[in-house]
Amino acid sequence: MHKYQNISAPVIKRLPRYYRFLGELLDKGVTRISSRELSQKMGLTASQIRQDLNCFGGFGQQGYGYAVESLYNEIGNILGLDHNYNTILIGAGNLGKAVAVHMSFEKRGFRLTGIFDNDKSKIGTKIRDIAVSDLAELEDFCKNNNTDAAILCVPKEAAPEIAERLYSLGIRNYWNFSHYDLSVQYQDIVVENVHLNDSLMILCYRITDAYEDQE
Ligand code: ATP
Repeated sequence: MHKYQNISAPVIKRLPRYYRFLGELLDKGVTRISSRELSQKMGLTASQIRQDLNCFGGFGQQGYGYAVESLYNEIGNILGLDHNYNTILIGAGNLGKAVAVHMSFEKRGFRLTGIFDNDKSKIGTKIRDIAVSDLAELEDFCKNNNTDAAILCVPKEAAPEIAERLYSLGIRNYWNFSHYDLSVQYQDIVVENVHLNDSLMILCYRITDAYEDQE
């Protein structure tokens, strides 16, 4: 059971950002910060910050501010970053490779244990010291290696069949880049969808909007 059960979804969504900011402050040797300073740096209101951080304990003291390190550690605990969830990545194309190489999985609560693809030219090549395996070996791998989560970097068309195999293997946690809506088919899963193209289109809209305002 999670120690902090009553944190609202919007607060949880802001936690990684707090964690990142506090980490940067720690790197700079800052030991404490007022909610006002933190709010200026983060572009939130001071009262928003006080409300958010009060959700999980009395880290702020009147006249002292927040103890950066304990707050950083506590937010890390709430996020569960010390977990090392065993994670496999499916799809070693351009995106899968970038995700595998770029992400600091270990610092974010995960450990990348396997990479799979069905393209013969990719099988056996190494990404981050992990040799890409044939997807045909998925079942054997998961039976021999406890697997908590899967990252889907395959095209949408390939995703349903792969998801069914992963689900049958008991995998219920997904980081989904595939644009296939997993939660329609499977209701008892945890999924974070990442749509990079959506973000790009929103940028396009906002640029267009800004240009039109200038006309
Ligand atoms: P590339 O052109 O090198 O294949 P890409 O990123 O453009 O890279 P995509 O078509 O987006 O390729 O596919 C992503 C990855 O998913 C590729 O490595 C592809 O081989 C793999 N893939 C596609 N279908 C399947 C499948 N059914 N099972 C396993 N892997 C698959």
